[in-house]
Amino acid sequence: MYAPSFDYHRASSVAEAQKLLAANPGAKLLAGGHSLLPVLKLRLAAPSALIDLGRIAELKGVSAANGGVRIGAMTTHAEIATSPVLAKSCGIVAEAAAQIGDMAVRNRGTIGGSVAHADPAADLPTVLVAVGATMEIAGAGGATRTVAAADFFQGMMTTALGDGEILTAVWVPALGAGTGAAYAKFAHPASRYAVIGAAASLTVKNGACERAIIIVGGVTATPTALPSVAAALTGSNLSAEAIAAAAGKAAGDLTGDLMGDVFASSEYRRHVTGAYVARAVAAAAARAR
Ligand SMILES: Cc1cc2nc3c(=O)[nH]c(=O)nc-3n(C[C@H](O)[C@H](O)[C@H](O)COP(=O)(O)OP(=O)(O)OC[C@H]3O[C@@H](n4cnc5c(N)ncnc54)[C@H](O)[C@@H]3O)c2cc1C
Repeated sequence: MYAPSFDYHRASSVAEAQKLLAANPGAKLLAGGHSLLPVLKLRLAAPSALIDLGRIAELKGVSAANGGVRIGAMTTHAEIATSPVLAKSCGIVAEAAAQIGDMAVRNRGTIGGSVAHADPAADLPTVLVAVGATMEIAGAGGATRTVAAADFFQGMMTTALGDGEILTAVWVPALGAGTGAAYAKFAHPASRYAVIGAAASLTVKNGACERAIIIVGGVTATPTALPSVAAALTGSNLSAEAIAAAAGKAAGDLTGDLMGDVFASSEYRRHVTGAYVARAVAAAAARAR
């Protein structure tokens, strides 16, 4: 199906994009178009105009800053997956980006488009919540605000972004000494989207787990913490037995409505989530040590 007709504007700066948004009520921002164009072709949205962010240099690139890493909103998944800065400071983000779709998807899709679209089956939201990332948002009046990733994802395809706001960057903290993080994914065999995505961040001191953060995506509408799993890991020696026992509590933490479709029912996802949590925890524990 063809998309409804729309005006097209190409912005060369964030300030210009904001002016274009204000001047074109009903307009939408265009990143790589990988989610937006299918939405238009399915006639699920009919924006008056598309404002292309693709030529805005200030929205691109990965750089070390303020003790962490700044990832511009228009940075592609391929750039994130191969970033030496991220590999050194917060490798789980690169690890997740490397598992997105295929090479064509990774070359075109952006971190900004992924988190703004907030598909429950996307990979990056899960790891960004697990590492405590922060979203940098430019408001309509020119002011910038930040929102913690844990507060940014508010529902299925619903975020904290307001009218006229542009996501400009995602900040991820550098993982400290003794902290390891890993992502384990059950990829849909056709699209590669996450049927289940599990992210674990563990801090280990004197052989024991001092702090555990376990987040799952795919199985839930928004990235969801598994507090019983984290509590069972905290204070343990992260042996294979301890990890298996903790991961066994995952299903009990999944209390709300779960995602389900003809490929994987909600009951199936609830049952299998623990296996992916165990894989993520084991990999994170090895890195933390
Ligand atoms: C075949 C296929 C397979 C895929 N597999 C996976 C997968 O395995 N895992 C995964 O996580 N993802 C997957 N994706 C999604 C892909 O990774 C893209 O990140 C995602 O589709 C968003 O696309 P985009 O970056 O091109 O953004 P667009 O489609 O251009 O935009 C998406 C939405 O975000 C808004 N937006 C974009 N940028 C901004 C901004 N800076 N500020 C505010 N709003 C903004 C747009 O207005 C639009 O509403 C897949 C996509 C395809 C087509």
